Amino acid sequence: MSGTAPTPASAAADWTTGHEALLYEACSACGQRSYFRRGFCPRCGASPVAVHVSQRKGTVYAVTIVARAPTPEWQALAPYPLLLVDLDAGPRVMAHGTAGLAIGDRVQIGFLRLGGQLIPRAEPISQEDEEASP
Ligand SMILES: [Zn+2]
Repeated sequence: MSGTAPTPASAAADWTTGHEALLYEACSACGQRSYFRRGFCPRCGASPVAVHVSQRKGTVYAVTIVARAPTPEWQALAPYPLLLVDLDAGPRVMAHGTAGLAIGDRVQIGFLRLGGQLIPRAEPISQEDEEASP
């Protein structure tokens, strides 16, 4: 669990507001790290919790293939993988993925801009990439 940088909650901005970042909350009481920001810990109820900017490497936990996309822009890309990724920082996040990704693959979360939205998208990383950058 490394590669994270604490950030003031007031400076927190992520992909949902158009910034290329993944954020998570960390509980100082029990250590829980949560992707969905609630302002309290879902495990022990403590508040407040600290907001961190996450590094973006992780391991694919689950994969499903979307054949019927929700919008015409996404339908142009279908079928495409939708993933759950366990970030090295701890939280599990949902992300779109490049074709061919499988459970256990190491990935880096980047971002794709589609239909005016910024969307997390996982791409495979090689062993050389893992060693070249944190
Ligand atoms: Zn807690």
